[in-house]
Amino acid sequence: AASKETLGFKTEVKQLLHLMIHSLYSNKEIFLRELISNASDACDKLRFEALQNDGLYEGDSELAVHIDFDKDAGTLTIEDNGIGMNRDDVVNHLGTIAKSGTAEFLSKLSGDQKKDSQLIGQFGVGFYSAFIVADKVTVETRRAGEAADAAVRWESAGEGDFTLESIEKAKRGTRITLHLKKDDVEFADSFRLRSLIKKYSDHIAVPVFLPQETSTDDADGEAKKIPEAVNQAKALWTRSKSDISDEDYKEFYKHVSHDWNEPLLWMHNKVEGKLDYTSLLYIPAKAPFDIWNREATRGLKLYVQRVFIMDDAEQFLPLYLRFVKGVLDSNDLSLNVSREILQQDKQVESLRSALVKRVLDSLEKLAKNEPEKYQTFWNEFGDVLKEGPAEDFSNREKIAALFRFATTKSEGEAQSVGLEDYVARMREGQKKIYYITGENYAAVASSPHLEYFRSKGVEVLLLTDRVDEWMVGHLTEFNGKLFQDVTKGELDLDDLADSAEKEQQQALAETHKDLVERVQKALESEVKTVRVTSRLTDSPACLVVGQYDMGGHMRRLLEAAGQ
Ligand code: ADP
Ligand code: MG
Repeated sequence: AASKETLGFKTEVKQLLHLMIHSLYSNKEIFLRELISNASDACDKLRFEALQNDGLYEGDSELAVHIDFDKDAGTLTIEDNGIGMNRDDVVNHLGTIAKSGTAEFLSKLSGDQKKDSQLIGQFGVGFYSAFIVADKVTVETRRAGEAADAAVRWESAGEGDFTLESIEKAKRGTRITLHLKKDDVEFADSFRLRSLIKKYSDHIAVPVFLPQETSTDDADGEAKKIPEAVNQAKALWTRSKSDISDEDYKEFYKHVSHDWNEPLLWMHNKVEGKLDYTSLLYIPAKAPFDIWNREATRGLKLYVQRVFIMDDAEQFLPLYLRFVKGVLDSNDLSLNVSREILQQDKQVESLRSALVKRVLDSLEKLAKNEPEKYQTFWNEFGDVLKEGPAEDFSNREKIAALFRFATTKSEGEAQSVGLEDYVARMREGQKKIYYITGENYAAVASSPHLEYFRSKGVEVLLLTDRVDEWMVGHLTEFNGKLFQDVTKGELDLDDLADSAEKEQQQALAETHKDLVERVQKALESEVKTVRVTSRLTDSPACLVVGQYDMGGHMRRLLEAAGQ
């Protein structure tokens, strides 16, 4: 065999590894879930590639995961006959490439263990969790379809570096051997492993085998180990709902999402008829660290007739729902479907509309039935959802009904008022939905533009998120009511005033005609026009921009960007 080579882990990988191990010591057992999850993914990938080239099966298409242990040696092995890895795969996936954005993420960590361990939960625990219980990990792997002597052995103690050497491996796939730490040899135990597989990996679609010790009264007196499948080995979404526990759903979420928090909610639907598919969609409880990276992978896995086709099937959900994770299993699409084909397929459009409707409907239901839980969703993902009206014109009212805002009538800066509530309590005579945009709550809440509205008891939305001004630009109306920026143009406040006020206002305009003319003259080069207004009660004067001019907040943003 070729000589052994030593390579260093990428700095970010090292840091992440260290952090992870320290935030997971109280939940060590999840390493097994992660390694079985990877083995199952590897089987999925092989089945997919074999659609084009069934030679990859090498005569063995019974995909499975085998777990074995040696109590005396203190080792545990997890072996699959999935796709396997070649040398480049091993170097890239197990050591040198960190996910994009990792370095930036790490720079945000505070050093406060508790806070950081919450943040790191967004990362996906993955392969490195093996080092929670092992002081040495050996990976032997061969990619399906490659020669037996093209296999590699990777080995590491999880500190600074790892070694690589070429080996021979007759069977394709990956065998991972954990050399358990002294304190963790308890995992080399049949009963323990069986209960962990049941707990964490029951939903895995391939069988997970564990040797079953038979009684020793065989002819030769030796105990025999016969592998026995421990899990149900049936894709979770194909089972009937009544047969799936909440725990199963939550574990499956962790498998598909690589998130180690529990999901906020899930939607499991089987549809037959014009479209024939099953979907199991999840809304996470926490936004991933890369939610603002538009190139980041998204979370929908596509299956066709239970065969895994691709991760990150972005055609089935719009960008503003990019936080949704889960599985779509279609019976209509062809098994040879590719990303290029998906772009032209008419079915895709229908499936996409159906999934969007499903997600929006269940958010609506959540908002109605569990407003507090909905609020936590809004706080995590509201900014993403606000991209909706621009991206999905046909659903804009439905999406807008899910929005929550701080207003002049809500408490503090919490975004808690929905547009339906706003409209329901509009004052008599009020025709528009009023809003003000600005950089932060303090600035908008104290704006003189709000004086009149406060005095009239008219509620104004206080919009302080970056996307807001752009969002109202696309939304323009809700429930037949136009949106109106209180700092812009004529406000149509007349209907809000009683007749005495109207007369008074007219009289004021009359008496101050001269003054207005003089001010207008003095400010000729600075402003377009000067007029007596009812929009102020305490302040003597304010600047407004024309109805169709850019808002002040947007202008400042553009100026800051050098435009
Ligand atoms: P993730 O599963 O989120 O991609 P992991 O850290 O669990 O992250 O695994 C990293 C990568 O290593 C996987 O994406 C895969 O490419 C590779 N890998 C891990 N385990 C296996 C395996 N048993 N067979 C083939 N590839 C594997
Ligand atoms: Mg993984």
